[in-house]
Amino acid sequence: MSPIINTQRTPFRPSLASRVLQATARWYNPTSQHKKRVVILGSGWGGYNVLRGLDKEHWDVTIISPNTYFNFTPLLASTAVGTLELRCAVEPVRRYTPKATYYQAWCDEIDFTQKRLKCMPATRPPGAEPTESQDTVKHNPGPSFTLEYDKLVIAVGAYSQTFNIPGVKEHAHFLKDVKDARQIRSRILECFEQANQPFLTDTQRRNLLNFCIVGGGPTGIEFAAELRDLLHTDMKARYPLLAKLAKITVYDVAPNILGSFDQSLRKYTEKHLSQEGITLLTKHHVDRIESGKLIVRETGEVPFGLLVWSTGLAPNPVVKASSEAKKDPKTLSLITDDNLNIIMKDGAPNPDVWAIGDAARIEDVPLPATAQVSHLWTSPVAAQKAKYVIKTFKSLSKNKPYPKPFQFINQGSLAYIGNWKAIYDRPAADGTNTGFMQKETGRLAWLLWRSAYFTMTLSWRNNRH
Ligand code: FAD
Repeated sequence: MSPIINTQRTPFRPSLASRVLQATARWYNPTSQHKKRVVILGSGWGGYNVLRGLDKEHWDVTIISPNTYFNFTPLLASTAVGTLELRCAVEPVRRYTPKATYYQAWCDEIDFTQKRLKCMPATRPPGAEPTESQDTVKHNPGPSFTLEYDKLVIAVGAYSQTFNIPGVKEHAHFLKDVKDARQIRSRILECFEQANQPFLTDTQRRNLLNFCIVGGGPTGIEFAAELRDLLHTDMKARYPLLAKLAKITVYDVAPNILGSFDQSLRKYTEKHLSQEGITLLTKHHVDRIESGKLIVRETGEVPFGLLVWSTGLAPNPVVKASSEAKKDPKTLSLITDDNLNIIMKDGAPNPDVWAIGDAARIEDVPLPATAQVSHLWTSPVAAQKAKYVIKTFKSLSKNKPYPKPFQFINQGSLAYIGNWKAIYDRPAADGTNTGFMQKETGRLAWLLWRSAYFTMTLSWRNNRH
């Protein structure tokens, strides 16, 4: 068990008593006595994979995350409409304890000089009344605690981008987590039950069954496609009259949807989606959202029953607040060298801190940020970087030199577009994609899409550690 060195509200400095406590805890805990402390921040694609792969016999591993589980994000759209059970898309962090230590908490501050983290519990303070829908607590007024590290892996991901558009946080649903998927699922069913009340007019029913998606990237399009499937199958069977009134619209400010895909695939998708009854409103600006309505610059007020917002990534606050480290001026993500060590403000890499996933990008390398190429096949950038970090820790434990610099392997982009069809795009290094299996559409691409994720989740579940 890794030592908590202090519990306090402020300031961020361990007391003498807590340092004595820490030393005592280490003395009592023979397994952690001679091991170096590795702290992993985040239990997503990056953090969870590092947790799985680190040798816990050699390293004293602690993971801090508000989520007690890992989210298999590519399956979230399917779980949000009920095609897959929510539990298919999660893996519990506790699978790796007690070999590793886990605290359900947020890391709020990183002191790179003192190698110390300030963390806030993501659980309700003991004795507090349970709130209705929160599984984790964001603004816990209770005490914070500090942790020391020898090595740190930052994999806190990113937040959803809202562009500060008024009303988004209050009235839209995001799709980043199984909790979001669960809420979306309940809201869809609620919309149908509300619309089924006998005293409503058809206009009121249409408004409730107007499903809007803002953001025509892979997440927005896959959700629209999955929702289309749901409306044409289960909802059509259960609510035959209401299903006819339902409508799906995707809004995007850009002139095209799926901007990161090849133009021919984009055209194919646009045609397919409109044949399936999904309206695509590109070059449309959402100015504001109010309860149950969008205010669109080009068309005015649009009433909706459900709004899903998916317009890219915003920096994680703990990364934004890390003033000692160098950051990308545009995305505010951490900058790393090609060994994935963060670069400090003075330009020197920090040999004890790695940053991976959506929270980081490699200096001077046009590595696809997941925001642009977000739907990669079997291996998101974060997972590939996690593998590299594990390799590095293996080398460190054997006093060997670092592995060769990290190199991203582009396995292609896949997106589900509804009615058993998908698109697949894998450009060659020179940017062309006309060779064998470099560009696929329809059922074959769907097979690739489904089997890639299915195999991955099953193999993870069957893994014995
Ligand atoms: P995440 O996976 O987001 O994990 C971040 C973790 O950090 C979470 O556990 C979070 O709770 C935790 N955390 C946050 N703040 C703190 C804090 N302050 N302290 C401690 N912990 C913290 N990519 C693909 O390549 N292929 C796909 O098919 C694909 N599909 C996607 C579908 C959806 C619906 C979404 C939303 C994304 C998809 N992506 C896909 C993108 C992919 O999920 C991300 O690129 C990936 O999750 C990034 O991994 P990460 O570890 O950086 O962050």
